[in-house]
Amino acid sequence: MKIYNTLSKRKEEFEPIVPGKVSMYVCGPTVYNLIHIGNARPMIMFDTARRYMEHKGLEVNYVSNFTDVDDKIIKKANEEGVDPSVISERYIEECKKDMKALNVKPATTHPKATNEIGGMLEMIQTLIDKGHAYVAADGTVYFKTRSFKEYGKLSHKNLDDLRGGNRSLLVSGEDQKEDPLDFVLWKPKKEGEPYWESPWCQGRPGWHIECSVMSKKYLGDEIDIHAGGEDLIFPHHENEIAQSEAANGKIFAKYWMHNGFLNIDNKKMSKSAGNFFTVRDISEKYDLQILRFFMLSAHYRSPLNFSADLMEAAKNGYERIVTSVSNLNFLLEKAQNDAMSAEEEKLVEEAKGFITKFDEAMDDDFNTADAISAIFELVKFANTNATEASSKAFVKALKEEIVMLSDICGLIVEKEAEILDTEIEQLIQERQDARKAKNFARADEIRDLLLEKGIILEDTREGVKWKRA
Ligand code: AMP
Ligand code: ZN
Repeated sequence: MKIYNTLSKRKEEFEPIVPGKVSMYVCGPTVYNLIHIGNARPMIMFDTARRYMEHKGLEVNYVSNFTDVDDKIIKKANEEGVDPSVISERYIEECKKDMKALNVKPATTHPKATNEIGGMLEMIQTLIDKGHAYVAADGTVYFKTRSFKEYGKLSHKNLDDLRGGNRSLLVSGEDQKEDPLDFVLWKPKKEGEPYWESPWCQGRPGWHIECSVMSKKYLGDEIDIHAGGEDLIFPHHENEIAQSEAANGKIFAKYWMHNGFLNIDNKKMSKSAGNFFTVRDISEKYDLQILRFFMLSAHYRSPLNFSADLMEAAKNGYERIVTSVSNLNFLLEKAQNDAMSAEEEKLVEEAKGFITKFDEAMDDDFNTADAISAIFELVKFANTNATEASSKAFVKALKEEIVMLSDICGLIVEKEAEILDTEIEQLIQERQDARKAKNFARADEIRDLLLEKGIILEDTREGVKWKRA
């Protein structure tokens, strides 16, 4: 399997540090609002990479943080007159709802920056002790960028070029730094801001140190893959490398993966320009599986344009797979013979070629666009070859292959079978019997089971009534 590594600017054979295991850190969102469709791109694409690696038998330890202390969160908290944690907790919950609807698997660990302050204090102290950081008169701790000789290796920038662009590196309030290239590890609190005690001043961490510390704590000093959107290459990931490698004395991450940006109607997404969509906005018009399908239709490193037409095309594409699976389910019920004919066995062998095609695409730096094409070819093959005369085993084999490949992409293509009225009546009767026998646990269990399937029970004097939600 090959992965394009931003560090070397080429595709490299993927060899995890520990054979069979993958440690992966994906920079997560700052939680001060509902996530937008740009934020959904890294979530979906790196979740797909994870699913594919798991499909190949690798055990993936996947960590993705929530940045829950930040100027934007504090600003919103002040506007609403609540504690910043109220804002961050609210949007973490909302983000998790969107992730579920996008079928993004929860990370192995979702650390929150505010729970990891202790680790940050420790790493900052180590950097000071090793001469890589210093404390300014106002208590701000800065990283001494020039002390890390390899600074610039990820973004392929040279320190002197950066120095030439000094002005843009001067941040207001950071006037006590020795060199414009230095960046903040810890900063003093301002009035009305959350803060933590530290040896340097009451304050809060800089953004970059959060990820270095959370990655170290949950995955160790050296990890396989570090990922995020391409806007994070500089300065965020460059600074993470400087901090982690200077503090730990080890290579921080072997492979750096970055997704391209999502634009709207060929323009940068921007709230002020009015071309801005949250994932929630899209969910009002489309099943979010279609948004996932849309993202998968392009390679993760390419820029991706979002438009109404392209979403309609994605809808058609996704529905082509869903319809095929639904037809195969219909044929399964109709099938007269169980066992495959010799002719059908040959066709199933032929269909395995689509799995090979899919795997080859994914092995080539997770080329989901080509992987989706392989699924389409398989769908076409199934639509042509499965008929009412087909055997059960044959239809089942084709259906399972489509569902399996879609599942690796995180696409749900088989809708849950609807519960039939007769099944509902049977369960209600069973619940009545359980109640008579004073087995209330079972009675509740049946109520919950029905609720999960969207059936609401109402106990009335005349008996039990039910309706579909
Ligand atoms: P943020 O909350 O801005 O730190 O972003 C969280 C993640 O979303 C990061 O990996 C960003 O690189 C990514 N991201 C933000 N905007 C876009 C966009 N328009 N297209 C693709 N990725 C984005
Ligand atoms: Zn990060």
